[in-house]
Amino acid sequence: MTSTLNKLETLRKVRAVLLDMDGVLYVGDQPLPGVQELLAYLDATGRKWLCVTNNSSRTSQTFSDKLAAMGITVDPVHILGSAEATANWLAEQSPNGAKVIMMGEASLRGALQAKGFELVDDPFEAQIAVASIYYALNYDVLTRLTLAIRNGARFVATNPDATLPTERGQVPGTGSLVALLTVSGGRAPEYVGKPYPGMYEQAIRRVDGVAETTLMVGDRYETDIEGAARLGMPTAGVLTGVTTRAEYLAANPSPDFVVEGLPELLALFQQADRE
Ligand SMILES: [Mg+2]
Repeated sequence: MTSTLNKLETLRKVRAVLLDMDGVLYVGDQPLPGVQELLAYLDATGRKWLCVTNNSSRTSQTFSDKLAAMGITVDPVHILGSAEATANWLAEQSPNGAKVIMMGEASLRGALQAKGFELVDDPFEAQIAVASIYYALNYDVLTRLTLAIRNGARFVATNPDATLPTERGQVPGTGSLVALLTVSGGRAPEYVGKPYPGMYEQAIRRVDGVAETTLMVGDRYETDIEGAARLGMPTAGVLTGVTTRAEYLAANPSPDFVVEGLPELLALFQQADRE
């Protein structure tokens, strides 16, 4: 185990911070303490930051609006959701565009169109099939995506999250819908969202960073921490969401920092910068 002093040295060298949203900035519609203070401190110390979420059902603007309703001010330019991340990722790989069939919300449609993709309904025309959470999902949509995948379209999913937390409990997320298409289409998709590298690499570029000095802050070990650690990023696990302290400490690798929440992370940054 690294000594506390070495750990503070790690934090002092951090030039950028990626923050998961649900369970880190808020829970449901309730803001968590210390968000604005931490972001202000990062700004004041010249560190870049970006909120990075696997949620694909909103645009950067509507995430920003959601935060504003909770009293947290975050410009859309500081937010990357998996709908936008998927469109950006595909655009890098298909710079001349492609015909895309999609299953998803308006946020995904808008993100793909903004990157110049031609959205098609005909499964036999589609070169890429993009799957994500879709609240109006019906059999016709599943059929068309299945036919596109079986016809050889590249199969891409925004994120692997099996469930979504709600007031009533865990409900189906993108991963569960993609599981159906994996069976019906006969193959698994390429994922963009955490813990897969597509989203992290894009986020690191957005903050002009490198993995070694970009800190990932998250609340769900398997999603936020594991994938970031694999890329060589320092990590901080908060206790305001899914994973418990005991689970973080039992995990391999454990996060570099386990903190109650963002106020404690801010205090550690301040301590590190004073050393
Ligand atoms: Mg989370």
